[in-house]
Amino acid sequence: MALTGLEIFKLLPKTNCKKCGMPTCLAFAMQLAQKRAKLEDCPDVSQEARQALAAAAAPPMRKVTFGSGDRQVTLGQETVLFRHEEKFYSSTVVAVTVSDKLTGQNLKNRIDTVNSLQFERVGTHIKVNAVAVINDSGDPAAFASTAEMVKKSSNLALILVSDSPDAIAAAVDKTKDAVPLLAAATDNTAQPMAKIAAEFNCPLVAKAESIEALADLTEKIKSLGVADIVLCLHAETLRDKLYNLTRLRVLSLKKIFRPLGYPTISFVTDGNPGHQVAVATSLICKYSGIVVLDTAEPYVFLPLLTAKMNIFSDPQKPVQVEPKVYPIGEPNENSPLMFTTNFSLTYYTVQSDVEASRVPSYILVVDTEGLSVLTAYSGDKLNEKTVADAMAKNNVDKLVKHRKLIIPGYVAVMSGKLEEATNWEIMVGPRECSMLPKYLKEFWK
Ligand code: SF4
Repeated sequence: MALTGLEIFKLLPKTNCKKCGMPTCLAFAMQLAQKRAKLEDCPDVSQEARQALAAAAAPPMRKVTFGSGDRQVTLGQETVLFRHEEKFYSSTVVAVTVSDKLTGQNLKNRIDTVNSLQFERVGTHIKVNAVAVINDSGDPAAFASTAEMVKKSSNLALILVSDSPDAIAAAVDKTKDAVPLLAAATDNTAQPMAKIAAEFNCPLVAKAESIEALADLTEKIKSLGVADIVLCLHAETLRDKLYNLTRLRVLSLKKIFRPLGYPTISFVTDGNPGHQVAVATSLICKYSGIVVLDTAEPYVFLPLLTAKMNIFSDPQKPVQVEPKVYPIGEPNENSPLMFTTNFSLTYYTVQSDVEASRVPSYILVVDTEGLSVLTAYSGDKLNEKTVADAMAKNNVDKLVKHRKLIIPGYVAVMSGKLEEATNWEIMVGPRECSMLPKYLKEFWK
């Protein structure tokens, strides 16, 4: 938990020497508490105080990554129980199982299916993030071979799931450059599993039957040289799973209980696909860092990933599309050009109405930091200058040979200034974009 200014002040030299640029130690402590100053700016702070402040500043939930390069995923580093308090930092990693009993074409088909679980939604690419290779065979060689095949055939992060240290050692040896997550160490296997994780620098799942046993296990694993840990607490029912995940989150964030200050993993591998998506979605809401599903049915993943996208969007940041020119249909130099803002909902509504008109067109999307037309205009994020700049930046004069720009009817008031700023003829479009098909047919010649 972050220290208050007064708590920091107690750890400072209290000489008011001003070497830090502040008039007093108290002023410096207040700046430090607000993260407007760095501890290094005080040359006289003692080593003990430095350590105490560094420990207090450590995030309550550790950041853990696995996978390498483009396949790397991040877990943890959360600071709040509820999204509206700030935001959630690490979106739940969604993983799908691949059994090491599969071979040949069946194995290839399963990997291809998992790879294909990706969709486009309001301009955002949403997809499954990881493959969990399951050691169903009990055979280390089969497990290693399947893991190697998955690594070669998929760009997703890798989770190796086996209770056997021998199987984990064999598989990680074949996949070490992919930095897999190793699952899982129990109290009985903590020593050999931690040895493998430390040797290959991979994060390790700690699995236990009770919260107390889990806390003891993470301390044991940490003492064996593994810092990046993911928690797996056993529960039979959805109710118990949610209860456990909530307790872990509260102990981690509110009580700053370091032995449980790690992200979590949940396995949802029983029941039909509909049951799995219901359970997994509930666990994404509260507060699983990773969910592993057995099903690979696309109809399950579209709603699951949509729910995840909504939960992990930043409440202070509207969903946005990239500001640029979007061609609708196959426009040419005589096609209409109109603008709207980069608020996703606004853009996709306009896009759909322009498509419905069947008039090939260009839509220039102006960057208004994700605000809708009227809000952006009221907040001066949309004015003649921002539109003229967007036109220049996107070279719209090279796209069309006419010099006419259709603007949303709601901002008709800016037409005069925009005409002066651009030297283009400004055509005031309808207030509601649902009227665009009629407008284009009647007014665009
Ligand atoms: Fe206090 Fe350190 Fe700043 Fe001097 S440099 S005023 S001791 S905080």
